[in-house]
Amino acid sequence: MSSELPTILSQPGAEARLCVHTITTKQLSLEECLAEFPKRGVSGLTIWRQALEGRKLAAVGRRVREAGLELVSLCRGGFFPASDAAARQRAVDDNLLSIEQAHGIGAPLIVLVCGAVPGQSLAESRKQIADGIAAVLPAAAQAGVRLAIEPLHPMYADDRSAVNTLRQAHEICDALGSPESLGIAVDAYHVWWDPELEAQIALAGQTGRLLAFHICDWLTPTCDLLNDRGLMGEGCINLREMSAWVDAAGFAGHREVEIFSNRWWAAEPRHFLEEIAASYRRLYS
Ligand code: ZN
Repeated sequence: MSSELPTILSQPGAEARLCVHTITTKQLSLEECLAEFPKRGVSGLTIWRQALEGRKLAAVGRRVREAGLELVSLCRGGFFPASDAAARQRAVDDNLLSIEQAHGIGAPLIVLVCGAVPGQSLAESRKQIADGIAAVLPAAAQAGVRLAIEPLHPMYADDRSAVNTLRQAHEICDALGSPESLGIAVDAYHVWWDPELEAQIALAGQTGRLLAFHICDWLTPTCDLLNDRGLMGEGCINLREMSAWVDAAGFAGHREVEIFSNRWWAAEPRHFLEEIAASYRRLYS
């Protein structure tokens, strides 16, 4: 493995790859996101499912395109493990619904937060995750929607995801026969600490599994396990290095800003958007 840091080229239009998740600016309605994002150079949009409530799917997709934004993905599916079969079936049904929703709005990808059950072994949860994904893959393939397994930081291994490393995500892809509709989402917040990170990102590129790249930063101290993510540059993640690895793996898609932050959510959302765009420019220009 090379210890030399690949160079991120200063490209004009680096913002062309800037995507923001609706949850990042959750104070804004979907319509406000569509109006405000393009003004800041945002060109991609990932929609969280709660933003679809009460809206017609086809109309959402049309409005996103009319706003000049590329629909990058739908967040989120997953949460497959459960202690009883009926609950696991409900999870499968919900994932089938998310595939319909993605298809309905024209999103090519669904991010999977895979799930876990406190007290159930992680190995059993991973088996149930693989079974759940296998149950919905045919519908995803039929709909032309891909599924991306997002490994979550191990602090969430109890109840949010038994998939905590890129290696484990690859193992599930392998176990399911490496179907084309299944891949991996690399979220900097979750995997930055992994000693295998560079090699596993490269492997995701080689296997055609690298489907999404989420960015934010890790704060010290982290005051809330869920809602204390930092804006890029506020924390300790070497995003330039990780982004170079992702680029070197052949990924040319959007870099998606996904920030859950009680602190930033208390700020004026348009100001927050300005800060996102500015920190993105500092990072990639
Ligand atoms: Zn993510």
